Amino acid sequence: MTLPRLASVLSKKSRLLERQEEAAARSRAAHDRVREAEAVRDAAAKAGQAALLSVRDAERRLVASEEKVSHLQAQESQITTSRAATAYQEEMDLLQAERARIEAEAFAGLDAESAARAARDHAEEAVGELVRAAHAADLDRGVIDEEIRPILEELEAARLAAESDLSPVVLSAVKAMTRSGRLDIVAGIVGGACEACGSGVPPGKIQRVRAGQENQRCESCGRFLESKE
Ligand SMILES: [Zn+2]
Repeated sequence: MTLPRLASVLSKKSRLLERQEEAAARSRAAHDRVREAEAVRDAAAKAGQAALLSVRDAERRLVASEEKVSHLQAQESQITTSRAATAYQEEMDLLQAERARIEAEAFAGLDAESAARAARDHAEEAVGELVRAAHAADLDRGVIDEEIRPILEELEAARLAAESDLSPVVLSAVKAMTRSGRLDIVAGIVGGACEACGSGVPPGKIQRVRAGQENQRCESCGRFLESKE
């Protein structure tokens, strides 16, 4: 019978296409993970650069602050009154406090920079691993494509051959079913009922199926009926 042969060709073909699509999906997912890891790495690199800029800025301000301190110290010998001495000390305290603040900023910046560098190195390592995984997924996909292509070609030829044996009416019904993605186009008759949906098949129809007529469909689910006896 042509229809069961066609049904088996169609379901084999669909399983192969599924396998091919799964391999393609694994490859796409692996490349997505590479891109995500690259984004994490780039963000860490950017954070490291920003931290470095803030360290450089603090260092410049530290130099300026130290210049102010030595400028003030140069005036110390000219102090004659206790009022001037108090004013000198107050200003010196302020400058020292400012310098301590900037130093703390610089150290915090250095800490941030080294943390960002460690994060970037870690992310870089992850990128490397994921790139290798993506490469493996691509290879796997290529192998599966290679393996499946000739079988698909054979199945396609078998499909065309089977379809050319069908009457135009049956063929157009089959096309309508498979167009909507349906592949289980055939059902047996068991105990007077459609094997797929369990609905009863009239005796006249059972006889026509037994006589080899292919255009006999289950009135409930629409599958083509085949005799199992
Ligand atoms: Zn049915």
